[in-house]
Amino acid sequence: MGSFALPAPAAAILDRLEGAGYEAWAVGGCVRDSLLGLCPQDWDLCTAAKPEEMQRVFSGWKVIPTGLRHGTVTVHLAGQNWEVTSYRADGSYSDHRRPDSVRFVHRVEEDLARRDFTVNAMAWHPRRGLFDPMGGRADLESRVLRCVGEPGRRFDEDALRILRGIRFAAWYGLSPEKETAAAIHHGKETLKLVAPERCMAELRRLLCAPGAQLAPVLEQFWDVLAVLPGLDCLERMPGYDQGNPHHHLDLRGHTIQAVASVPPREPLRLAALLHDSGKPACRTVDKEGIAHYYGHAKESARLAERALKRLRSPGELRRQVVQLVELHDLWVPPTLPSARRWLGRLGEQALRDLLALERGDTLAHAPACQPPRLARLAQWEALLDQVVGEGDCLSLRDLAVKGEDLLALGFAAGPELGATLRHLLEEVVEGRLENHREVLLAAAKERLEGARSSPYPFL
Ligand code: ATP
Ligand code: MG
Repeated sequence: MGSFALPAPAAAILDRLEGAGYEAWAVGGCVRDSLLGLCPQDWDLCTAAKPEEMQRVFSGWKVIPTGLRHGTVTVHLAGQNWEVTSYRADGSYSDHRRPDSVRFVHRVEEDLARRDFTVNAMAWHPRRGLFDPMGGRADLESRVLRCVGEPGRRFDEDALRILRGIRFAAWYGLSPEKETAAAIHHGKETLKLVAPERCMAELRRLLCAPGAQLAPVLEQFWDVLAVLPGLDCLERMPGYDQGNPHHHLDLRGHTIQAVASVPPREPLRLAALLHDSGKPACRTVDKEGIAHYYGHAKESARLAERALKRLRSPGELRRQVVQLVELHDLWVPPTLPSARRWLGRLGEQALRDLLALERGDTLAHAPACQPPRLARLAQWEALLDQVVGEGDCLSLRDLAVKGEDLLALGFAAGPELGATLRHLLEEVVEGRLENHREVLLAAAKERLEGARSSPYPFL
């Protein structure tokens, strides 16, 4: 299982500490990822040396005292930062967020015991190999997520571990063992005490897990997500019968399938999570007893905006998600002018995201109604490729004439000038005029002369 590609600077740090008589290990996520055959994002190091001892050991190197009180120093070596933390044990917790105190300890076992999950509580050293007193490797091999120690207590100490656990389960395809799972559900309300931006950071990472692994985790812990700020709109989804032959799944099942079916990009996954959140509020039932949800995209967009504000999402991400949710049910017919118009309006990335959302949404519909929708999406994608490939004129920026050209023709500065530019753009987008300077100047001139001879200029 896995191999360890310890970067040379990290090895040098371990050697320097051990040369000075202080035991040191690579620890946590990098050990887990290496065993899984993945490339670790960063290598966390831990040591028996106390912070002030580390400063002595690393004299001559650039050392940043990152969190001396928590025992963390950052060593700047070979152009990169390396975090080294003294073995520590956490004191009691009274706010469900962080320990009231930490104390430095002598043995690595004690440090591993404060860590959240067995798969995160392994240490490794290039000569001594794996040190795994909690059985993290066996859990990893059998794909089990297990708290270090008593789950209820560990989640009660730090509620964020609940979301971390769900994220690890989704990313690595782990099943939380019975007590860990029960404690996650049991402790969910304490998430309300965690800063919304920390919840949001976890949610974003969780949602970008591989779809096939994410889906069962979302299903199992849906109630936990519904506790997060603004996500109370998820509460009504489980068991919500959509009452329409296009849907074979309940609203939660449909939503999960849509999330898992869109590519793992944050705006898309968040938009998929919230795209139908407004349905319950928009339900009407026709004479045949079939339910409809007219206007639900707008209501869902409102709920998405509210949720992402309460979760303190970055503004740009929120804007992207709200736009996708608002437009997700538009189903504009695929024509060349539409493709140009929407590309001009949204830009390529947002339009591609919108099509990807429609595709994911479609794949979560009853199988019988998928083929025509998928065919229409394929047409849209082909048109989009064509328009992008041809570098077509899509916005005023791309138009072959500018404001100054019209001024030179004799237009007065002011609203007519803008209206004429927009009119020319419309003609180009609709394919009635070519985007050539001479053609557009002629059309503008005609319009100007028409306006001069008309009692209703520019109507
Ligand atoms: P990733 O970097 O992929 O999120 P990671 O496991 O490296 O995963 P970090 O947040 O970088 O996660 O934390 C490094 C290590 O510190 C973890 O592996 C775990 O051992 C420990 N740890 C982090 N956060 C907590 C926590 N809230 N409670 C207990 N231990 C934690
Ligand atoms: Mg890490």
